[in-house]
Amino acid sequence: MKTYDVIVIGAGPSGSVAAAYLNKMKDSVLVLEKETFPRFVIGESLLPHCMNHLEEADLLEAVKKVGFQIKTGASFYKGNTRCDFSFSEQHTKGWEWTWQVQREQFDQTLVNEIQKKGVEVQFNATVKNVIFNTDFQQVEYENKNGQLITAKAKFVIDASGYGRVLPKLLNLNEPSDLKARGAVFTHLVDKNRTEKAGNNIFIHAFNNNEAWLWAIPFSDGHTSVGVVGNEELINEFSLNNGEKFKTFIANFEDLKERFKEVSLIFEPRTIFGYSIGVKQMYGDGYVLCGNSTEFLDPVFSSGVTLATFSGLQAAKLAHQQISGNPVDWKNDYEEVVKKGVDVFRSYVKAWYNGDLQTIFFAQEIQPQLKNQICSVLAGYVWDETNPFIKKHNTVISTLAKVVRMKENA
Ligand SMILES: Cc1cc2nc3c(=O)[nH]c(=O)nc-3n(C[C@H](O)[C@H](O)[C@H](O)COP(=O)(O)OP(=O)(O)OC[C@H]3O[C@@H](n4cnc5c(N)ncnc54)[C@H](O)[C@@H]3O)c2cc1C
Repeated sequence: MKTYDVIVIGAGPSGSVAAAYLNKMKDSVLVLEKETFPRFVIGESLLPHCMNHLEEADLLEAVKKVGFQIKTGASFYKGNTRCDFSFSEQHTKGWEWTWQVQREQFDQTLVNEIQKKGVEVQFNATVKNVIFNTDFQQVEYENKNGQLITAKAKFVIDASGYGRVLPKLLNLNEPSDLKARGAVFTHLVDKNRTEKAGNNIFIHAFNNNEAWLWAIPFSDGHTSVGVVGNEELINEFSLNNGEKFKTFIANFEDLKERFKEVSLIFEPRTIFGYSIGVKQMYGDGYVLCGNSTEFLDPVFSSGVTLATFSGLQAAKLAHQQISGNPVDWKNDYEEVVKKGVDVFRSYVKAWYNGDLQTIFFAQEIQPQLKNQICSVLAGYVWDETNPFIKKHNTVISTLAKVVRMKENA
């Protein structure tokens, strides 16, 4: 039985970043990935803060070479009202741009790079079980020939995303406190993309704060388009190969017929039940990172950034532990990851209850406040010098009240 310092389950962004860091620290790592790459996964618009994580894991230069679409901000729309955030105007000093990525290519680039650096990655390797012992863990996986193989490691990082391997095996799943929603999406040839469309992600709110549409432009002239809404709406939109969804995007007034006559790259796909929580993020011999922990909602494109953040943090602490140094997983991992997730949770809730939309679509927002909000949208959610982070529980509803009072005066 082969033995490693760490086994990482899953080769998405959280797994690759974790493996890259451990390899840099000279720990032996095995990555077990269920699929063959490239494989599709949703989650295409990155946030500037993930650039820091890619940089620290020595993965940034490889991604730079691909030529992904540069993203410099986010544009929110409601009817004719538009609110633009530019990452160059931020409270936190950090990255002022990032990318919009086709995930099959992005994830493949990260995996190629870690393999180049010497990390062993096995594809078509589905983790079925993990047996925890005092000094080492046994990870059982099925290879492409259907054989059950066991590998040993001092530590296991679960980066299995929507697969949620350890949360399922250890009964750690917890329902989300957010309303169940779903999404329907496709990629299309965006012939009518105008200069004005720029390189931002577009988020169009509709149905009285309940639903929204995304448009994420890629560098090859294709665009990812999707709608998020309650399960009833998404079920309705997805019937008959997404007939209603296609008609909706073709005729959606706010898009001014940009998607009227387009060819789809693939028929609309749906995803439901993605908002989920977890009882604990670590235990003896393991830690969860990325979507294997908690996933909230896609509206602020926070998923990959939280995945690279937690993947990196998990790897740092795992390295510390296998080097024989004590680790405070509660305070240095779970509480830290939760802090970032909780900031986004406040913004997600405020988006759907209308408070954030009141602020975004106000006649006027003070530039300083807008810059502070922009840093949240850029993913810098651990910067406590930002009042929109420090007081995330209360600040949005307070500001929304002020805006409403002013506008009704
Ligand atoms: C509708 C929607 C839109 C989104 N849009 C965005 C966005 O614009 N920007 C953004 O940042 N995020 C977005 N997200 C979130 C994003 O999809 C995830 O947060 C991100 O992919 C998480 O990365 P990860 O590394 O944790 O997991 P993943 O990327 O899911 O990777 C996990 C890997 O683990 C593998 N795996 C699973 N089970 C096993 C097993 N048993 N054995 C071995 N391997 C296994 C999988 O095959 C997969 O390759 C969106 C989510 C949804 C639902």
